[in-house]
Amino acid sequence: LVSRKWRVRPTVLDLGDGVRIGEGNLTLAAGPCSIESEQQMEMMMQHLVDNDVRIMRGGVFKPRSSPYSFRGLGMEGLKMFHQMAQKHGIKIITEVMQVSQVEEMHDYVDVFQVGARNTQNFNLLDALGGVDKPVMIKRGISGTLEELLSSAEYVFSGGNEKLILCERGIRTFETASRNTLDLNAVPILKEKTHLPVIVDPSHGIGIREYVPTMALAGVMAGADGIIYEAHEKPEEAASDGAQTLNFQESERLIRNLRKVYALR
Ligand code: PEP
Ligand code: MN
Repeated sequence: LVSRKWRVRPTVLDLGDGVRIGEGNLTLAAGPCSIESEQQMEMMMQHLVDNDVRIMRGGVFKPRSSPYSFRGLGMEGLKMFHQMAQKHGIKIITEVMQVSQVEEMHDYVDVFQVGARNTQNFNLLDALGGVDKPVMIKRGISGTLEELLSSAEYVFSGGNEKLILCERGIRTFETASRNTLDLNAVPILKEKTHLPVIVDPSHGIGIREYVPTMALAGVMAGADGIIYEAHEKPEEAASDGAQTLNFQESERLIRNLRKVYALR
């Protein structure tokens, strides 16, 4: 069902209020790794509005490698996030970690994110097949593209056709970067599937200085959009500060992404 053989025309998702994801639209989504406070959200949303970016990312349930790291504000944080986003005309993408959260989160999100550690959580994918909101599936940490497409097939065959795929880097033998952003994935996925393909350069390389370069490369490779981490003070971010852009860097990147997209 997710194959180009089954549907030739590229899928374009309509989030409402003129926000569309897929062929013909450059989708930009930015925000902190974790939602931390009302004040942080307010500043971030102002930054997005100022730059005409319509989607904010930010985790309220955080899958952390260590149980002692900040694990997110949970539902309370999501409700604040939602309320503030409504006020600013911003759409929300945030990670759902388990089946029980799908229903709880449903009314407060615009796009459900399935994280790299959950790409093959088939119960979660089944549950998301039953919702009427878009789902962005991140590639598994050591997942092949076939596996990513199979994960999308779970949700699609369950009845939810509103899907986005995200290349966020894979684990390789290389240790100079956090992950290896596999830009090969972009043209390959675009050929194999009609679904929109988004690149996450923040997790893909993990080093702030190189995030803009890889974001631009992602768009040149044919991505339908970029999702990246930004924060008013990356050094103070509760998670992933080392790969997070400040507002100045973010603004510059947005400008350049639009230029590069126009060249394509
Ligand atoms: C995130 O988006 O902050 C995140 C945890 O991403 P991933 O699942 O790709 O590691
Ligand atoms: Mn992160």
